[in-house]
Amino acid sequence: MKGSINLGKVSGIKIKVHWTFLFIIVWVAFVEINQGGNLQSVLFNIALILVVFLCVVLHELGHALTAKHFGVKTKKITLLPIGGIASLEKIPEEPKQELLVAIAGPLVNVVIALALYFIVPVKQFLADNLTNILENLNELSLANFLFYLFTVNIVLVIFNFIPAFPMDGGRVLRALLAMSLGRVKATQIAATIGQSIAIVFLLLGMLFNPFLILIALFVFVGAYGENKMVQQLELLKGHTVSEAMLTNISLLKPNDTLARAKDLILSGTEKNFIVEQDGTPLGILMNADIINNINNPNLLVTDVMKTSFKEISSNDKLRNVLSLVELHKGQFFPVLDTNKKLIGAIDMTNINEFILFQSKLDY
Ligand SMILES: [Zn+2]
Repeated sequence: MKGSINLGKVSGIKIKVHWTFLFIIVWVAFVEINQGGNLQSVLFNIALILVVFLCVVLHELGHALTAKHFGVKTKKITLLPIGGIASLEKIPEEPKQELLVAIAGPLVNVVIALALYFIVPVKQFLADNLTNILENLNELSLANFLFYLFTVNIVLVIFNFIPAFPMDGGRVLRALLAMSLGRVKATQIAATIGQSIAIVFLLLGMLFNPFLILIALFVFVGAYGENKMVQQLELLKGHTVSEAMLTNISLLKPNDTLARAKDLILSGTEKNFIVEQDGTPLGILMNADIINNINNPNLLVTDVMKTSFKEISSNDKLRNVLSLVELHKGQFFPVLDTNKKLIGAIDMTNINEFILFQSKLDY
């Protein structure tokens, strides 16, 4: 996500805060002043928000460090006004592992709440009658601060266990379903439930709390995206790159000019090209680079081509290649055979076509 500030690193995982996070601090101050608060009460509430988000970071680290235990890296943890996101490189496909990674986050909040339960101590705090408790809660004391923190952690646990996939509770649900139904069916069911709950969040959000609207969108889009990804991976299962790759492609030689590339674009449907010599790819000539330099049509393709690119083997599994190609959308990848000779190319459009055909065959 763009516009994030680095806060540091924990166990190799970058902790970042998105600039929109400032909104929540401004919002908290605004609400407090609106309710007749003074400087002290504003600072009290801002401090509370900051410590709550520290608990959120610990929650995300719970996910990330458990994932690390199963060999899954986490690129970063980003703090947004609606909470934290741990960007895991992948979700463990083993249901038991996904279950543990999903539970580890809220479990951190359970531990924090439990510790605060004894530190406050909550039992004594709530022993008074309700009127006194409510009156005491207006004080800006450390005991109140910790009691609020305790309450927030309990709310975080409950909220995260709502089975709205891809929220934690939804992941737990998917993992449990996957144990008997398999991952594809389990994801479909969890995503449907997640999207239904997102609609409820949306309605509640419009009535009570705008943050719920953002969470609703996050859940709805997330459920759609992950479900699509799992269904696609299933359709690609057991297939190799050689089955899907483009083989009918025009190749360019190092001494070809941009004018030749322009002619190829106009006379056919190809957009990107591989520059090769004796079956060895030397570079990729991208459509945008051709267009941007076409006022100089006598330039050699080697002057404009990208020389850093990833090669894909024709024996590679398509499902492994999908994430690579998705990560570099719009890129063009040369495909080599076992003798390292160029035999074709692959890109996202191409894989999408293959997925489309597979979906028609399988259902
Ligand atoms: Zn979580």
